Amino acid sequence: MSTILPDTRTDKLATPVQFLKGVGPKLAEQLQKLGLETVQDVLFCLPRRYEDRRNLPPIGQIRVGQWVTVRGRLIGFDGRPTRGGKVVIRASISDKTGTVSLVWFNQPWVSRKLQGYKGEILAYGQVKESGFAYEISSPEYELIEDDSDEGEFARIVPVYPLTEGVRQSLVRRAAVSAIDRYLGDVIDPLPANLRQEQRLKPLAWSLRQIHMPESEENRLEAKKRLIFDEFFLLQLALEQKRLETHSEVGISFPISQLKSSVVVGEIRRTSRTEKSDPHLFVKEATGLRYGSTLLDEAKSLFPFDLTHAQDRVIKEVWADMERPYPMNRLIQGDVGSGKTAVAACAMLAAVRCGYQAAIMAPTEILAEQHFRNLKAIFEPVGIVVALLVGKQSAGKKKEVVGLAKEAKAHILVGTHALIQESVSFDRLGLVVIDEQHRFGVMQRAALRQKGINPDVLVMTATPIPRTLTMTLYGDLDVSILDELPPGRVAIKTHWKKLDSRDKVYEQARELIKQGRQAYVVCPLVAESEKMMAQAAEELHYRLSESVYPELRVGLLHGQMKPKDKDTVMDQFRSAKLDILVSTTVIEVGVDVPNASVMIIEDANRFGLAQLHQLRGRVGRGTTQSYCILLADSTNEDAEARMQVLVDTNDGFKLAEEDLRLRGPGEMLGTKQSGNLDFKIADLVQDAKLLEISRHAAQKLLESDPYLSKPEHRILSERVKNRRSQQADAVIS
Ligand code: ADP
Ligand code: MG
Repeated sequence: MSTILPDTRTDKLATPVQFLKGVGPKLAEQLQKLGLETVQDVLFCLPRRYEDRRNLPPIGQIRVGQWVTVRGRLIGFDGRPTRGGKVVIRASISDKTGTVSLVWFNQPWVSRKLQGYKGEILAYGQVKESGFAYEISSPEYELIEDDSDEGEFARIVPVYPLTEGVRQSLVRRAAVSAIDRYLGDVIDPLPANLRQEQRLKPLAWSLRQIHMPESEENRLEAKKRLIFDEFFLLQLALEQKRLETHSEVGISFPISQLKSSVVVGEIRRTSRTEKSDPHLFVKEATGLRYGSTLLDEAKSLFPFDLTHAQDRVIKEVWADMERPYPMNRLIQGDVGSGKTAVAACAMLAAVRCGYQAAIMAPTEILAEQHFRNLKAIFEPVGIVVALLVGKQSAGKKKEVVGLAKEAKAHILVGTHALIQESVSFDRLGLVVIDEQHRFGVMQRAALRQKGINPDVLVMTATPIPRTLTMTLYGDLDVSILDELPPGRVAIKTHWKKLDSRDKVYEQARELIKQGRQAYVVCPLVAESEKMMAQAAEELHYRLSESVYPELRVGLLHGQMKPKDKDTVMDQFRSAKLDILVSTTVIEVGVDVPNASVMIIEDANRFGLAQLHQLRGRVGRGTTQSYCILLADSTNEDAEARMQVLVDTNDGFKLAEEDLRLRGPGEMLGTKQSGNLDFKIADLVQDAKLLEISRHAAQKLLESDPYLSKPEHRILSERVKNRRSQQADAVIS
């Protein structure tokens, strides 16, 4: 267990736990099992929950189900071995109002303590019924030796996270002695004015109240302070990184100086230091007049008008590209919001300024789709687009690699194949990562390293909640595409039980007869692609043989040969197939506007974001689309997910809901959740504090970007520490 504030500590807090009162070398070994080596570790080992033992009713008034503290004289004691050789201990205690039994299973040391004891006992636990009487099983207890014991016992008591062989009482004792003896050595990293501004309690006070709360209010104040620290440190680290990128030297693309006049064929070979010639584009073929701007050209490329959101984000991206530091920007947009067009405009700008661009997609299907689309818009204006994917022949790959290296291709589209060693560019100026959640940090970095501090644009598949953006991508600048292209008809989503499957198939048949196409996504059976493929094959067999013998049913799964995948996608795209049975390989990015029915089998097995992505494969044209979730109710969570999907098409809302339902770790998978390992903070409950801490971090760094003021010394050390931890996490 690491502490939330890894510390350049004062020496005193580095004292080994064995020197804490009541610990010693033997018990210190137990604490070490919890990762508690030093006093500092103990101080920052935070309780998992609390027991409020202040409810101390007379025994005669306790009721079943209540959590109570009882106080009474020991009047009976019995330690009987069971048949298995284990021991059940039963003790009766009573006060003036009644009697209750305390029961312990297999805890022989209790027996040793109670044997022959005649005094009073305090016990805390939940009241249960046992025959006609009440009992409390496995209570926390204490023998009363003097009257202050009641106050000590009947308070709000911390419950620490434990591992096997470590007793709660030991950690409590260690915490109490650490608080008593070492609290004065705790240095508060937050400067006083910040603390005042944010109305935060001092750190030492907060630690005391977290371990030994005097009241619920104090505990909450303390918790707030510790949560703030946890968020604040992360935000400082992220924001500092963001600002650092801004002070790096990158490419300043002279976008606003571009005016159409000449035609570019090949990229001009200028050195990086040479000032780029702004007069680099445009062909007469595009019909653009002399003097028109890059935005005019961009707009002329697409068969549609850009949405306001696209227009805004493109300008944000271009403005960023003009700046002298490397762009590091995240584009968040809902499924179908047209992120690709924005990426295309960024690439256009790079190319018109004399650079190359690369776009990396997570699957070959998606890479090919991008290639096809980009080629269609760029080829007519003389920009050369090339594709590099794993399945190509060695000869073809070599050819493409050559094109990139010799700057004969301006834009390279590909999969992971792009980051192979053999790939190099002449002047890579812009890197786009599509569906970035599918890539690891190292993969993104590998592509970036193919250029010299190129600009980087990463795009999400579906929106993620703002709190997660701040946590995971706080070091990036963010643009949001919050508008769908006009004319889209909202997808109608229905949740149907499995027994109405035949009816669903019938209704799909009706729509197909009207010329629509449909996807049927097979259940998520296992982690294994192979089993998924099998399931898809079975479903395909059933649909093509018995359900839709008269229709053309295709099959797509991850285990198919690349060539066969291509053929099937081509057939579906050109409406030579009516139905495509598929695994989740179609989840990302696939764009076939005539497909307007999406049937998802056993939808309850999918996550919310994944369902939303799948649903996003339809609703891309101008006809009414349908998404049918086929599933029986299995559990509340799955039901909640499907209901949310039925209720809204808004990916931003869905993302918030997903976070609430599943929590950040589950929602995102473990791959990128290093920043999400909070000890005390909770991204859902503490969203407001996160926001506040981010603003506070930004404000602080505005006035002191390197944290070099004396009052920020400790903060600075901790941020450094935090950042090196982060770097480790990224590498491991
Ligand atoms: P996503 O953001 O999910 O990656 P795409 O970039 O694949 O979305 O775009 C989805 C579809 O919308 C594509 O068919 C694209 O051609 C189309 N599209 C994008 N922008 C517009 C627009 N402004 N007007 C109309 N259609 C658009
Ligand atoms: Mg996309």
